[in-house]
Amino acid sequence: MQAQQPRRIAILGAGITGLVAALKLAQRGHQVTLIERASRLGGVIQSVREDGWLREIGPNSFTSSPHLDALTEELGLGAEMLATPLKDHDRFVWKAGRLRCVPTGPGELLKTDVLSTGEKLRLLFGLVKRYDPPTEDLPLASFFRSVLGPGVVESLLKPFLAGVYAADGDRVSFEATFNKLWVAVRGERRLISALKAMRRASPKPDGPRKPRALVSFRDGLETLPRGLEKAIRAAGVQVITDRDYALSRSGDGWSVELAGTEPIPCDQVVLACSAERAGRLLAPHAKPLADWLHSIEYAALTVVHVGAPEDAFRDKRRGFGFLSVADQGIEALGMIWNDRMFPGRTPPGGRILTCFYGGEKRAETNRWSDERLVQALRADLATVLGHDGRDFDLLRITRWERALPVFRVGHRVRQNQAMRHLPPGVHLAGNFLGGVSIPDRVEAAIQLAKGLTGD
Ligand SMILES: Cc1cc2nc3c(=O)[nH]c(=O)nc-3n(C[C@H](O)[C@H](O)[C@H](O)COP(=O)(O)OP(=O)(O)OC[C@H]3O[C@@H](n4cnc5c(N)ncnc54)[C@H](O)[C@@H]3O)c2cc1C
Repeated sequence: MQAQQPRRIAILGAGITGLVAALKLAQRGHQVTLIERASRLGGVIQSVREDGWLREIGPNSFTSSPHLDALTEELGLGAEMLATPLKDHDRFVWKAGRLRCVPTGPGELLKTDVLSTGEKLRLLFGLVKRYDPPTEDLPLASFFRSVLGPGVVESLLKPFLAGVYAADGDRVSFEATFNKLWVAVRGERRLISALKAMRRASPKPDGPRKPRALVSFRDGLETLPRGLEKAIRAAGVQVITDRDYALSRSGDGWSVELAGTEPIPCDQVVLACSAERAGRLLAPHAKPLADWLHSIEYAALTVVHVGAPEDAFRDKRRGFGFLSVADQGIEALGMIWNDRMFPGRTPPGGRILTCFYGGEKRAETNRWSDERLVQALRADLATVLGHDGRDFDLLRITRWERALPVFRVGHRVRQNQAMRHLPPGVHLAGNFLGGVSIPDRVEAAIQLAKGLTGD
């Protein structure tokens, strides 16, 4: 995999995207410098163990993908990995005072009480009915409301977008949020055909296709960036953390001007940080691009980790967790039942939950005081899981002011216009380009490394 002509490449930002790009570029023989503003590598992936409780501060798990399977093996993390089949974990929706199981296939659709009989028939009809492929971007909820009916949108799609993307389904772009589905929908005239086309276009594993799994590691997701850190150091990547710097032009290339040391010359620069940070670095060199980067909105999210004895909860069911339909008497967007998926998350007999509040739809919740938030949490836990009200063994609040980018309708058109101003030798690689999940970021970083130097 040796590069024909080694290049000097600076990668700015050491979340999962920057780390994977650094590894893949170094493996191609390029001279890579990875610069991270914080003192630790890994970005939003952070796992903390205290008194036997394992908290995932950012992402909780990822869905298996051929790229990630291969990366995990390559990093020698196979023995640390915990993978559990997706189909073994029921997902629930909180609606009209009850947790209701989300259907994952046609058989379950008949049984579920998330949707009424009329809504189920509307959904089935919508899957096979011809639609006019959209000619321009539109809100995700609008498209699916017209094709599958309002029931599916309010009870399934919008809770999913709020809980997983912190986004309001009536405001986010179909094209930018679910780009692979958007491409498939535009190329077909029936939703069922579009779903099949999307599946055909997904990356193929080398061997037989394995059932999709939820993945983490014995000591949490942070094992992945730690493994990448070890691998990039072994591959000769220079890692610089916790430093201020500026980016300047230097001949045909670029120079990273670090305070108090020699500048680092480079041929190529990869910006793997947030849109706002990339905008700040590019403002002196490409103002229209920087303006677009600054215009990208991020949703705030409040995450509360709760640890308590199993016997404090009346509801004993197992599963991934639940998402809430709006205005159903609770404040949480949803909760993940971490101990139900992976072993070793709690002291013996404990239960740990990751509870999500806020997002863009219920933005005011992000500004609540800790006291008010905990009051709402207690009420939600009593209502949904029958918590008996005793003190928690673990209670930690994390406020993400800029958790995830939310793409407004027309995002891709504005992106294409802005990208015309991308200076030579500069590459954008943040999750604001679309594809926010860990598998999406890993795939994007691998593609970037392949395309960047044309080898
Ligand atoms: C609360 C939360 C829950 C999530 N849950 C899931 C989940 O369960 N599953 C899933 O697949 N995905 C989940 N995601 C999404 C996913 O984790 C992220 O989209 C992905 O990890 C982003 O990786 P990244 O490397 O692109 O960015 P980041 O992780 O944000 O890393 C960017 C890095 O750039 C650094 N930086 C910033 N400015 C500069 C600068 N000027 N110079 C150098 N470095 C800079 C930052 O310090 C940071 O380390 C979640 C995200 C959040 C926030």
